[in-house]
Amino acid sequence: MKCRKMRSCLRGLSLFCVLCASVVHCFSLDREAFSFTRYDLTLQIEPEQHRLGVRGKIMLRNDTSTPQKIAVLQISSSLSWRSVKAGDKALQFVTQPYTTDIDHTGALSEAIVTLPQAVAPQGTIELEIAYEGVVLLDATRLTRIDAPEDAATSTDCDQIDVKFTAVRGAGYVAWYPIATDAAYLTEGNSLFEVSSRWKTREAGSRAHLKITVDNGMPPQILFNGVSCSSSPLPASSGDDRTVRVGTADCMDQPLRSDTPTLVIADYQTVERSAIEVRYLRGRDTAATNFADEAEKIAPLITDWFGAEREKAKTADLPDPKAAPFESGALLLMPLTSNDSRMAGLAAAHQLTHASFLSFRPWIEEGIAHFAQALYLEQQKGRPAAIEYMGLHRSAFGQAEPATTAPRSEDEVNRSLVNTTNEELYRSKAMCVWWMLRDMVGDAALKKAIAAYRSERDTEPSYMPRLIAAQTQRDLQWFFDDWVYRDRGLPDFKVESAFAIGTRGPNPDKIASCPSMARASSALFSESP
Ligand SMILES: [Zn+2]
Repeated sequence: MKCRKMRSCLRGLSLFCVLCASVVHCFSLDREAFSFTRYDLTLQIEPEQHRLGVRGKIMLRNDTSTPQKIAVLQISSSLSWRSVKAGDKALQFVTQPYTTDIDHTGALSEAIVTLPQAVAPQGTIELEIAYEGVVLLDATRLTRIDAPEDAATSTDCDQIDVKFTAVRGAGYVAWYPIATDAAYLTEGNSLFEVSSRWKTREAGSRAHLKITVDNGMPPQILFNGVSCSSSPLPASSGDDRTVRVGTADCMDQPLRSDTPTLVIADYQTVERSAIEVRYLRGRDTAATNFADEAEKIAPLITDWFGAEREKAKTADLPDPKAAPFESGALLLMPLTSNDSRMAGLAAAHQLTHASFLSFRPWIEEGIAHFAQALYLEQQKGRPAAIEYMGLHRSAFGQAEPATTAPRSEDEVNRSLVNTTNEELYRSKAMCVWWMLRDMVGDAALKKAIAAYRSERDTEPSYMPRLIAAQTQRDLQWFFDDWVYRDRGLPDFKVESAFAIGTRGPNPDKIASCPSMARASSALFSESP
């Protein structure tokens, strides 16, 4: 089956991030038996050859209830396994290609490793690994489902190259080892579900990278928004050229639910208190415009979502058509536009991620999109915010007309708290937050958000309870209808919600949130 909605696929692929409930699937070969709790890797990058060589150690934890003697390690199919050791002992392993769309090449190089002894449930084992190969521009997984070539390469733009290196992690390029079941773009939400499961398992993992780049210049390296401490090594003369090598140490940090992303480029930097914008030569104006817009918005965002946990970073992409990509507070996008409104929308979203963290997509992404509506309201007034949410609906409605066909039990029961569906956890969640604000008021919602701690969010009712604690009103019906169950389709309107509920505020003051048959997943654009 072809991907029925190519635009939707491409857009979703370029934007998805996040997690859902973990379900360990059982196969004869249990690829998801182990989580990787720690990466300590040394990367050798040779941009002229597009080459990546990796040595280092990884820590595996058995997440199943039975002892495991076999571990599966997967890397991009353009890379090859060289060795796997435990202690000083070389381990036996077989390699095979594994077809899956979690990697841009449409396949992984899989090492099936026989461990020296079975690892008990929740037990760990450290492995020393080595692999190498190239990371070239490759959109096989998209072109094989008939995506137009240029759109495909703008979406899967990852590569190691002398001009620009950007490699996103699981879901794009497996440049570090992962362990996942197969996922296919042609099978509904399969890629999102497999990626989400992996990210959930990785959420507590830590990574420490040491990177050497033979680039002819000191590397400027961003790893998940962290600026790695870089230093050029003294130039040395080769046979016929001067070899310059730079090294960088990227700090030990938790991966959370973000996609580990590595960017190496000859960037210029414009810095403001709220954000650092790295841009390519010739794009000074757009970069400065973006930084200034972000700086203007910062007070609104900190007022709603607290002080920044980390500094937001935006990094330029050379391809002007490249789709924006976010990994936590790091945003990759082509800095080619001087449109202040678009910059403001993007910055509002990004700064919110820099301030507020949740592992639940409907909270993490819903709130970041809600911040975009708040930004528009502040700039242009409430109707502009309502119109923005309405455009999400109508734009998507054009792409996929609402159906009157009966919905499956699965669809009806799908809840916002658990969904991996982007349109729901982005656009519908944005409206849910907007409606909550209308019901409980700004002050109460801000207090609930301020009280939220992601490490305490161990059950779906946690955030609703925090909100309920700030109001005298019974909101149970609202959460039952719009958060715990997926009744919001196709007539998601707050008026109908209030018809079910108790006495509420004046409905005239409440946003008629868009009909969310399916909403646009566009991050920043108003018409995808
Ligand atoms: Zn986001």
